[in-house]
Amino acid sequence: MPGIQGLTINSLTVHHRRIALVRPFVTAVRSATAIDVVLVQARDSDGRSGWGEAPTSWRVTGESRQSVTAAVEGPLTEAVLGAPVDDPAGTSALLARSLVRNSAARMAVDCALYDLAAQAAGIPLYRYLGADHGTVRTDMTLSAGLRGENEDGLIATAIEHRDAGFGTLKVKVGAGGDDVSVLRRVRTEVGAGIGLRVDANQGWTAEQAVSVISAWEDAGLGIEMVEQPVAMDDLDALEFVTRHVNTPILADEAVWTTRDLTEVIRRHAADLVNIKLAKTGGLREALRMAELARHNDVAVIIGCMMESHVGISAAASLACALEATGAATRSTAHDLDAGLWLKQSPVTGGAAYERDVVRLPAAAGLGISGLAAD
Ligand SMILES: [Mg+2]
Repeated sequence: MPGIQGLTINSLTVHHRRIALVRPFVTAVRSATAIDVVLVQARDSDGRSGWGEAPTSWRVTGESRQSVTAAVEGPLTEAVLGAPVDDPAGTSALLARSLVRNSAARMAVDCALYDLAAQAAGIPLYRYLGADHGTVRTDMTLSAGLRGENEDGLIATAIEHRDAGFGTLKVKVGAGGDDVSVLRRVRTEVGAGIGLRVDANQGWTAEQAVSVISAWEDAGLGIEMVEQPVAMDDLDALEFVTRHVNTPILADEAVWTTRDLTEVIRRHAADLVNIKLAKTGGLREALRMAELARHNDVAVIIGCMMESHVGISAAASLACALEATGAATRSTAHDLDAGLWLKQSPVTGGAAYERDVVRLPAAAGLGISGLAAD
């Protein structure tokens, strides 16, 4: 890349914003009304800033604002200081060697490095990664908190999003209650034209999963895919479900890294994989995993944690790139709705939503110009 040789990484700074959600987010393992957004700003020797986000949740990523701050200010800063801006993959490999786990902290720094590299090259990150367009479609998640006594609330939210132009809805299941009848009702109410996928977040045994999914199949509900039906560390169960139903099975919590994906592929334990930057530790490893998946005919969905527009900007850039290489299918919605749950973005610029489309700016890098006013 002309003109960017000699640029180096000068500093990493952690920023924190607490941002309220538009409605409570409830899954089988957590419930939240606001999130702690933890951002990393990387500065290069030309004074440019690159941005990344570390989604934190003790129960999902095993990290916190404090643990991310300690990792970024300690070993991750040590690993990147003075590193060349034009080699984000090489520097990201140093991050991975500088500490074990802490993948959300590594994601934040890795994404900030890629943002800087694309800025220095003068092109949007999605182009830097090989894409020719900056838009992807996302699903909309219907929270498990709308279940149980409040099934009418789930239906109302489903209809609201269908009417607002969302083509794919993701229903959280597996938290108790009658999942067969709930999905039957959702399908009846939203009609046949809407994509319906479900996420059990490890909530079933293998036998329960096969029983519920088979009942949906018998009822002709047209469920697009079922995400992580069983416990993350039980590949026997995941393989059993994949073998015994026709509906595609999507591995999420079971696959964090290339090593996990290799084992899922070897056993054909799932049909698709949900790649999230907070699991992979950033874009470098995510790109490796997507390439492995593509070579083995495993379809890829790009997903997100409960995170802001900063993390979503990097994930959407990746999704665009994978659609360009064929690792992800243009007709399949990704799982990048987290920004829609926040009352405001913590930054100016970056990804914006238009109904179910995530649109990336044409500006260089992630197109983030700085922190938004509090
Ligand atoms: Mg999931």
